[in-house]
Amino acid sequence: MAKIGWIGLGNMGNPMSRNLLKAGHDVTVWNRTKAKADEVLAEGGKWANSPREIAEKCDFIFTMVADGPTLQSVTLGENGVVAGLSANKIIVDMSTVSPEESTKVNDAIEAKECKFLRAPVTGSTVLAQNATLGILASGDKAAYSKTLPLFEAMGKNQFYLGEAEEARVLKLSLNVMIGVTSQMMAEAVVLAEKAGLDVEQVCEVMAGSAVGSPLVNYKKALVASDDYKAAFSVKLMMKDFDLAFAAAKQYDVAMPVTAVTRQYYQAAAATGRGDMDFAVLTQVLEEQCGYKRP
Ligand code: NAP
Repeated sequence: MAKIGWIGLGNMGNPMSRNLLKAGHDVTVWNRTKAKADEVLAEGGKWANSPREIAEKCDFIFTMVADGPTLQSVTLGENGVVAGLSANKIIVDMSTVSPEESTKVNDAIEAKECKFLRAPVTGSTVLAQNATLGILASGDKAAYSKTLPLFEAMGKNQFYLGEAEEARVLKLSLNVMIGVTSQMMAEAVVLAEKAGLDVEQVCEVMAGSAVGSPLVNYKKALVASDDYKAAFSVKLMMKDFDLAFAAAKQYDVAMPVTAVTRQYYQAAAATGRGDMDFAVLTQVLEEQCGYKRP
């Protein structure tokens, strides 16, 4: 049984940490807002008062937080993970952050003679709950092999991609495809709606057609019901697009379609939809095209 520490109990971290508990591990958690730990504590998790305390007590330390600045604050801050580390521990960040932010954290962890795995995930909250996430990992290969059984308790597909920041870049590539799909779906749905078709039927047909990717299937219910409770928010998608643009600049890649789509997310956030699911672009386009659902 591994002694695991878990930092970050948001939409993703909560079910992921509980899957480690279900697999029989000893899990100690910390989250900025303690109330979000209620479920994991009720299921046998333990509470620590800071990321530093987690690092002092645990052998594997996972982070699943909103973004790069938060990752840096929970690792490099005064009461952060690095302050509590002793040699030979494995720290695994599963958040989506930039390669640059990730390297800074890696350097501080390596200075403590510990290993840092970058392990962002593909799949949203339902896959997190079902332990069927895709896990993209890079970093020290031996540390990856030791951590693999823990990844298997949270995900269905694990990929080892290289010794450094490879997983960060591939995760951003995937999110760009996901984010652009939402705008593609919006344009197709609103065209059909304005021509008088029933939105529920339109979504069903799309989901069952050649363009009915798993993503379209996950999002069809939100679009059909016009209820965009977030599995993955507009704000987080905007963050990932911006990280992808930074990487595109670094590697000299043009991303014109991604750049235009980013503007639609901006419009969604500017009209009070920042905390809604990123599939809300259909609602934004309906509004821009003067369409009201019957
Ligand atoms: P979330 O529900 O918004 O949770 C964010 C977590 O970060 C919470 O634990 C939050 O603490 C913590 N946090 C935010 N700001 C903080 C600060 N200043 N100091 C300390 N903690 C802070 O996000 P999520 O959906 O779980 O996503 C987590 C990561 O996974 C993100 O990097 C996201 O891009 C990535 N991801 C998400 C999905 C998805 O479908 N949701 C899928 C793949 C990857 P509080 O509880 O105190 O607010």
